[in-house]
Amino acid sequence: MSRRIGVLTSGGDAPGMNAAIRTVVRTALSFKMEPFGIYRGYHGLINDEIEKLVSSSVSGIIQRGGTVLKSARSQEFMTKQGLEMAVNNLKKHKIDSVVIIGGDGSFRGALSLMKHGIKIIGIPATIDNDIPCTDFSIGFDTAVNTVMDAVNKIRDTASSHERIYVVEVMGRHSGNIALYSGLAVGADSILIPEVPFELDQVCEKIRLAYEAGKNHNIVVVAEGISLPSDDIRNVSFGVGKYIEEHTGYETRIVILGHIQRGGSPTVNDRLLASRLAYHAVSLIHQGKSGKMVGEVDKLIKSWDLQYALAQEHTINMEYYRLASILSSL
Ligand code: ATP
Repeated sequence: MSRRIGVLTSGGDAPGMNAAIRTVVRTALSFKMEPFGIYRGYHGLINDEIEKLVSSSVSGIIQRGGTVLKSARSQEFMTKQGLEMAVNNLKKHKIDSVVIIGGDGSFRGALSLMKHGIKIIGIPATIDNDIPCTDFSIGFDTAVNTVMDAVNKIRDTASSHERIYVVEVMGRHSGNIALYSGLAVGADSILIPEVPFELDQVCEKIRLAYEAGKNHNIVVVAEGISLPSDDIRNVSFGVGKYIEEHTGYETRIVILGHIQRGGSPTVNDRLLASRLAYHAVSLIHQGKSGKMVGEVDKLIKSWDLQYALAQEHTINMEYYRLASILSSL
């Protein structure tokens, strides 16, 4: 059985990571294991930024966004030498298991640690919600609530000034934030990378809506969509320009950006983080390794990490269809 367990956060930060760290530490202590915090993800692992944690180390963090362990991306970790340095540091501290809180890139890094005899368990945490084998990843619920609050405000001004607003949300490869928030705010169009779209159809919808007396229009766009013309840096500007040119209606662009990453985690994210992290430490306590934990149909389960990473990320087409129905006249 592992006695010394490390925990790190890696990749993009996500609200709820702190709730997961807190649970890893306190669950480990309840199993009479010694928890160690690894700062700045794999970068800190290479640089030996490792510290023993006690219960009070994680006091007062459950409500905080971001990650108290900091996060980083590390190219060096992907080299043979970097990986060796990381493994040697773990061995030096006699840490034989690590809980990795992050996205799919972080999980691939975890698999390379496993090849060197380190037990690893992955906890999905990314606002993009693009990790297979879990309905939700930590941080997604907070992010979509942040988008919803912002678009509620945008709608007030859109309606007063009778304008079209194109709202760009995060999601380089995943339209989940756009889809869930778009459905929740009653967006008129939702453009995501996973579903082909025609801007002419978006314009036609706007024209029909205005003719029917509607005085504003909200188009939610995932940052990862591609447009026919690739000379446009921000896709939302491209969409906005097209709409203005083809409908004649005044169009404004809002890029929500990094506010989507921050903020106090929602109840859902705190509960998800606590439940997943408890399960992760329990697996390590049982001697298991090479797995990720996830929630499917409200149940916490675990999967072989290699299998999980080979699965394709999908989006909820039922939600997409529902959003389309609700926004047609
Ligand atoms: P997010 O989805 O929020 O971007 P992520 O975990 O997918 O999170 P990445 O930047 O892809 O974020 O990965 C985080 C770190 O994991 C990288 O900086 C790198 O150190 C390590 N990593 C990523 N892919 C691999 C890989 N194939 N092999 C080894 N390590 C990897």
